[in-house]
Amino acid sequence: MSRIREIQKKKKIKKVKNNMKRVSSFANQKGILYVVSTPIGNKKEFSLRAQEVISSCDFVASEDTRTTGLLLSEFGIKKPMISCHEHNEKEASMKIIELLKDGKKIALTSDAGYPGISDPGEKLIKLVIENDIPVSIIHGSSAFLGGLLGSSLSTSKFYFHGFLNAKSSSRKKELEEIKSYPMTLIFYESPHRIMETLNDIYEIFGERNLTIARELTKIHEEYIYTSTSESLTLDSSTLKGEMVIIVEGCRKMEKIDEKSLKELLKSRLKDKTVSKKALAKEIAEIYNYRTNEIYEMIIKLDQKD
Ligand code: SAM
Repeated sequence: MSRIREIQKKKKIKKVKNNMKRVSSFANQKGILYVVSTPIGNKKEFSLRAQEVISSCDFVASEDTRTTGLLLSEFGIKKPMISCHEHNEKEASMKIIELLKDGKKIALTSDAGYPGISDPGEKLIKLVIENDIPVSIIHGSSAFLGGLLGSSLSTSKFYFHGFLNAKSSSRKKELEEIKSYPMTLIFYESPHRIMETLNDIYEIFGERNLTIARELTKIHEEYIYTSTSESLTLDSSTLKGEMVIIVEGCRKMEKIDEKSLKELLKSRLKDKTVSKKALAKEIAEIYNYRTNEIYEMIIKLDQKD
C-alpha cells in the first residue's frame, strides 16, 4: 500500500487531491503571472516593487485598461494592455495562459486594491496555477485589512464577506447564515446601499459594536466607531465614498436550556453544507459547551430523523 493511501486509511480520509506540487516563483525565467495590488486611494501607496515589476512585464492585464493605464502613465510606465474583467475573464484567461506558456511575463491588476478580492482575478489565478505556471503576489493596499486594523474590533480572528447581496431578502439570508460566527465580520458596501445594509445588519445581528471605515487613504478618511443600533441614526448624506463595515462577532452566550439547544441544532442540521464537526465546534464556542458534548447530541438527533 502506498504511503499516501496508508495515511488516508488511518485518518479515514475518503477523497483528497493526490497531486501535490511545489512551484518556485522565481526559479525559471519563463512565464509568470504577477498579481499586483494598486492603490485604493492615495497613489503614494503604489509601491516601488509594484512599479518595477510592472515595468519588467510584457503585458498588463487589467479590469479596466483606462483606469490602470492612467495610473501607470502617472508613474511613467507604458505597457501593452489586455482587458480582463468580470464579463470576459474566462476568454481573456485563455489568451493570457497562451502568452504565459510562450514565456511572457504578465501583471494582473484591478481598478483598486488586490485583484481577486471582490474584483476579477480569481478564475485567472486558479487557471494559471492549474497550468503549472508560477504566480507571485505583489503586495500593497487592501481596503478590508486597513478597515479591520483601524476598527478597534478584534483582529485575532476575522471573516471577510465582501459585498452582501443587493436584494434585501437575499442579504438578510446571507446575514442569518453568519449570525453566530464568533469572529469579527467584514463587509464591503457602496454609499447608495449603506443605510439599507446597516438596517439589515441590526435586524439580523441585534446589538453589537460596529465600525465604518470610509475613504481609506484619501483626504476624507474617517472611522465611525458606533454600534449596530446607533449606526441607524447616521445621516446618509454624510456617508459618501467607499466604505468597509466591520462588525463585532457573536458574543459567547450563557448556556441555553437543553430544549432550545436541541431545536437550534435540529434547524442547523438541515444545512447539509456544514459538517457535523464544524457545527458542533461553532455551537460549543458560542454557548460555552464542550465540542464533544454537542457533537454527541448532534449524532443522536441525526439518528432520530
Ligand atoms: N479589490 C479591492 C480590495 O482589495 O480591497 C476591493 C474592490 S471592491 C470592487 C470596492 C469596495 O472596496 C468598495 O465598495 C469599498 O467597500 C471597498 N473599498 C475600496 N477602496 C476603499 C477605500 N479607500 N476606503 C474604504 N473602502 C474601500
